[in-house]
Parts: sequence; structure tokens; C-alpha cells
Amino acid sequence: MMDISELLDGLNDKQREAVAAPLGNYLVLAGAGSGKTRVLTHRIAWLIAVEGISEGSIMAVTFTNKAAAEMRQRIESTLSQHSSRRLFGMWVGTFHSIAHRLLRAHYLDANLPQDFQILDSEDQLRLLKRLLKLHNYDEKMFPAKQACWYINNKKDDGLRPHQIDDNNDKQEREWINIYRIYQDTCDRAGLVDFAEILLRAYELFLKKPVILQRYRQRFQQILVDEFQDTNKIQYAWIRLLAGETGNVMIVGDDDQSIYGWRGAQVENIQRFLDDFHKAKTIRLEQNYRSTGNILQSANQLISNNSNRLGKDLWTEGDKGEPVGIYAAFNELDEALFVSSQIKIWWEDGGELNDCAVLYRSNSQSRVIEEALIRAQIPYRIYGGMRFFERQEIKDALAYLRLIANRQDDAAFERVINTPTRGIGDRTLDVLRNLTREREITLWQATQLAIGENKLAGRSATALLRFCELINSLAQETEEMPLFAQTDFVIKHSGLYEMYKQEKGEKGEVRIENLEELVSATREFIKPDDAEDMSDLSAFLTHASLEAGEEQASPHQSCVQMMTLHSAKGLEFPRVFMVGVEEGLFPSFMSLEEPGRLEEERRLAYVGITRAKQKLTICYAESRRLYGKEERHIPSRFINELPQECIQAVRLRGTVTRAYNQSAVGSVKISPLNDSGWKTGQKVKHGKFGTGTVINVEGSDNNTRLQIAFQGQGIKWLIAHLANLEKL
Ligand code: ATP
Ligand code: MG
Repeated sequence: MMDISELLDGLNDKQREAVAAPLGNYLVLAGAGSGKTRVLTHRIAWLIAVEGISEGSIMAVTFTNKAAAEMRQRIESTLSQHSSRRLFGMWVGTFHSIAHRLLRAHYLDANLPQDFQILDSEDQLRLLKRLLKLHNYDEKMFPAKQACWYINNKKDDGLRPHQIDDNNDKQEREWINIYRIYQDTCDRAGLVDFAEILLRAYELFLKKPVILQRYRQRFQQILVDEFQDTNKIQYAWIRLLAGETGNVMIVGDDDQSIYGWRGAQVENIQRFLDDFHKAKTIRLEQNYRSTGNILQSANQLISNNSNRLGKDLWTEGDKGEPVGIYAAFNELDEALFVSSQIKIWWEDGGELNDCAVLYRSNSQSRVIEEALIRAQIPYRIYGGMRFFERQEIKDALAYLRLIANRQDDAAFERVINTPTRGIGDRTLDVLRNLTREREITLWQATQLAIGENKLAGRSATALLRFCELINSLAQETEEMPLFAQTDFVIKHSGLYEMYKQEKGEKGEVRIENLEELVSATREFIKPDDAEDMSDLSAFLTHASLEAGEEQASPHQSCVQMMTLHSAKGLEFPRVFMVGVEEGLFPSFMSLEEPGRLEEERRLAYVGITRAKQKLTICYAESRRLYGKEERHIPSRFINELPQECIQAVRLRGTVTRAYNQSAVGSVKISPLNDSGWKTGQKVKHGKFGTGTVINVEGSDNNTRLQIAFQGQGIKWLIAHLANLEKL
């Protein structure tokens, strides 16, 4: 038995109360950085070490798979100070990974083939596009995107087509029909989309009481992190699993609820208190993460929201540096600023890993990436165009998926003509129509069409060759280790040759990526909970479910770039929030609905509270995004920060003055330099055309100007040599 005090070390009184609470239902409600995740981790160690709960009775739900791995490791290291333990029996993962595991274990009861595959969002959209066309739906009236949204929404609410009330509305009836067609196709092909994973797992429990009973008895202890972002089906699933006797501890923060747009219901926190027997609330109020200035800024910002459950957060820590506000001239200037600040941090001995750049939307990352590349600063992007989402990788994975499961329609569609084999759209339409008429998969339709001579000779031969190719790839690689199998498939499917012929850098990158895929399979270690799967299936699952969270090459220390959404739960000593402008953040779309605006504000709160030591918020006065140049004013969120905690950043480093909030929205013009130049001055240059001075350095004949030229980028010029015309 280990010393109890060790489990409680490094916790304050309130945290201890939660960790050492008697078995029961608890809500730990607390603001950012107050140690909720830490409490959850210690609670699990406590349950095992003190309450004598077996690790196999514990299920912990985290927000990302990365967080799950970290949590497992922390618990193991806490417990192993006395005995070396590896917690094989405990289930730790996201809702999706846990539900997926259940479906694998009970695929028959869930009505799935053993080798069912995950359909990611891009594949889902493609499949819907195809089905809508096949069934003659007008693209304008029934866009595939909207169909996706409709179906996922219904699934998140736990609804099947027959359970949806059409209210005698013609349009609604059509959507229901589309949902039905889509679902039938997925079922035949053994495909489950993300929302389906959760809904199926829920239905499995509902329809098979024996299975539910078994898991109820097993998982007596359930813990959920980031509970504010659970949706209806996740809530219902937890409730079903816990039954009347389960012990559930949830931790969350209503101020960090940022997935309302995807069906998350912050009301689940209140619902928990109503639905779970004698549920008790424990509040934590001390923040351990951020400096005083950062915390006070976050507190003040979020106080602008209504209907909060209400929390006070305080810190014993120093006030620290003020929050920096940088007014960039445009998005290039912003990127340059961020990269140069990171460079300074790096040269001063800071760790790149400790730096994060957070943005509202993925499309903002490119400019910053380019500035980092130019400054030779390594970086990593979480989310966005992830490795496993790249075209060539998805092509290769589609071949592997077909090898694992011939009925996978999405994979079939993807590679039937990649590389081209002379199988035209007309041939494919014959197959597609067969799938509709006979309710079969594309693979089956192919066999049928060939068998019944439904196709012209050339097409039939091409199709036959394709089927033979897939069968022989499967056969020849059957005994190979996964990486050799992957390599073989890439080389012998024709993909390698095809991309080799693609010209220029793009082709090279694609080949490199394919090679990287082989390394990824070589490095892949099958997780403990995937013993029941083949290496290939486990890897494919990993690729679609988990790996997207982090990019390859985790060894090197590098700047972390991600959207504000994916930063939830994380912390970094040095944080940049970029693009904090009206119209971008809050986004235009949110401006019309008060509810959405508050969600944007919570997102800003999440962003600010990621920072431990130093936070800089940037906005650009003009920005080119989605190909359009627009002038922006600073976000209202900047306005909502307390004056005494923030400071404008002046690049030349000598002048720093308090940020003047009354100037928000007007372009700031700095005083005239003794050289007669000022920022904001419009100029014309013989070669570069018109531009605007964004920086002035030196004096007299040494005056250097940094000028942003339209369409020509940013240049430094010596003022008296450049022959500039003031406009
Ligand atoms: P978020 O809402 O952002 O998910 P959280 O409430 O889960 O935050 P944690 O990530 O658990 O907070 O903790 C924030 C930081 O404070 C971590 O670095 C954690 O190690 C540290 N911390 C938590 N409690 C204590 C404590 N009692 N003493 C010292 N440090 C602590
Ligand atoms: Mg947390």
C-alpha cells in the first residue's frame, strides 16, 4: 500500500476534496487552469491505490487521444513509485475511440462486418455527392455539404430516418430520404462515419441489454474531462452506461464550451446534476497556470457573457508581463512580427516547443508558415491539412482499405481510376446503378456486371484487371509485416509511378509523403486495446481516428501551430493569438446571433488561458484572406480587456506605451521621424509600384524604410537612395 499523502501532494484543499471524495457522482466545475485535469488524473490513482478499485473497472474519457496517452502515463508514474504497474485493463480514450472499441468487440451485435472501416469527413462528403447525383437530386436544392450536416446532426441527436418527424414538409421528407439512402449504402459497404460510431455504440447498449449489463458491471467508475463539450448522444451513452449504481465524476467549465456549433450542449452540466443520483458540485478557484495579467484579462473578457454558472478565478502568481497587443499593417506584417518574436525567444534560449501560435481558422496558417520557413524556424501544425488527409496518402490508404475490405465503396471510388485505367464515367454509372437496383456494393456490382456481360469488352477487361490487381496485392502481401505491405502496395498499385511523373516540387513532395507513410507504418505500434485487430486494420483505424491530432516528426522541438479549438486543454509558456479582428474573430457569421457571439468569446477565453507566462495578441489592419483584401478593425475582444493588463507592442523596442483603447478602429500614425518619414505614408517606387511605409529605422542618410508594396511583398529600402515619391 502506498503512502496516501503522496497522492494528495501538490493539490490544494479543494482539489483534495475532489480526489479523496467518497465514491459517488461529482461535478468538478472550475475555470481554466485550475487543475481539473490534474484532479481527474489523481482521482484515478486514488481509486486504485486507496479505494482498492481494480483498474479494469475504470473508464476515463478525454478530449483527444493525445490527452488520453498523457493521462495514462501520469497515472502509471504516480502509482509506480511503489510498484511498477501498467494499467492494461483501464479504458482511457475519447468518446470516439472508446465507442469504436466497443463496436469492434461486438461487431456482430452492432450489425457490422468484422473489418468495418471509418469514413472520415472528406470521404463522407464525396460519397454523398455521388449518391445525390445517382438519385437525381438537384445540387442546388440539396447540396452535399448540407446533406452531411443534416445527417450528422440527426445522428448526434440520436435519430434514425424513421424516427424523424417530417412535419408534412416536402423538403424535410427528401432530407430524410437522403439520410436513408446514405445509411443503406454505408451499411452495405461496412462504413461508419464519425457520428455513426457514437450512435451505433449507443444503440448497441439499448438493443442488447445483456451487453449493457456486462459493461455496467465492469465500469463502475467513469470519469469525463471537458464535459461542457459533450453532445446529446454522448450524454445519453454515459447515462445509460452508468445506470443507477455507477460512480461518475465529470469535470468541466461552462466558459470553455466551444462546440455548440457541432451539437455540444453545455446544458449537459446542469442535466448531470438533475439526472445523476445525489450528484455533488465541487468548485476549484485557484489558477495555477497563468500570470496575474493573463488571468485578469481572461476573467474580464468572459464577464461580458451572460448566463454563466459563475466562477471566480484567482492566482497567487506574479502579475507577470502585460499582455502585448500588436497592430500589424497587414497579414504579412503580422506573420513577420510573430516569426521575429519567436526568433528572439529562441535565440534567448527559449524552447520552441513552448511557443504556440493560435488562430481562428486553418486558412490563416499559411502566411505564418511561410514566415517561419523563411526564418528557418521549425514548426508543427495540429489539425488542418493533416498528413493522413493528403491526397496521395488517402490514395494509398484507399488501396490498403480495399485489401482489408473489398466492400469499402468509398475506397473503391477513390482508386478505381487512380491511376487512370480507362474506366470511364459511363462504366462507373452502370456499376453505381447496379448498387442501387440490387442493393449491393460496388465491388459486388463489378463482379456481377462482368459475370452477366453488362459491359463493353474494353471496360470489362479493365475492371477485371483492377479486381485482379486488388486480389493479388492482398494475396502477395498477406504474410508481410505492415510496412513491407504498405511499401509493396504503393509501388505495385501504380500510385508511385503516377506521382513520380507529376512534375515539379509538388510531385516530389507527394513521393516524400508516400515514403513517409511507409515510415509511419514501420513506427506504428499497435495500441494495447487493439489486440483483436490485424496490424493493417489497427493502422487504418489509427490513421482515420487518431493520428490527425499530431503531425509526423515529433522528435524535434518546434513551434506549435493550431486553431483555437484544438488548443483546448493545452498550455504553453509563450502564446500568440493572431487575426484578432472583427469579422474574423468574432467571425462575421457569429455577429448576427447573440448565442454564437458568446461562443466566440468563450473561444477567446480558451485562447487567452492557454498562456502561462507571456501572451501577445495580434490584429492586422488589412488582410488578404480567401483571395480578397479587406480592411478590419480590432476585435471587440481586445476592447474588452482591462487597460491595466495590456500594452501595445512597438517594434523598435524603445517606445512602449499603454495601448489606447479609444484609438481602436483608427489607423495609428506614429510621430514623424527626424528623417521626415512616418509609418502609414503611402509611396511610389519606380520598380515596386505603390506601397505603404510600415517601419522606419535610423536617421538622416541612414534612414531605412520597411515598405509593404502591393503585390510585391515587404521590402527594406534606404530612404535617400530609393527615389520614393510620397503620395
Ligand atoms: P483547462 O480548463 O484549460 O483544461 P485544467 O483546469 O484542466 O485547465 P490543469 O491543466 O489540470 O487545469 O492544470 C493547469 C496547470 O496547473 C497545470 O500545469 C497543472 O500541473 C498545474 N496545477 C494544477 N494544480 C496545481 C497545484 N495544486 N499546485 C501546483 N500546480 C498545479
Ligand atoms: Mg483540462
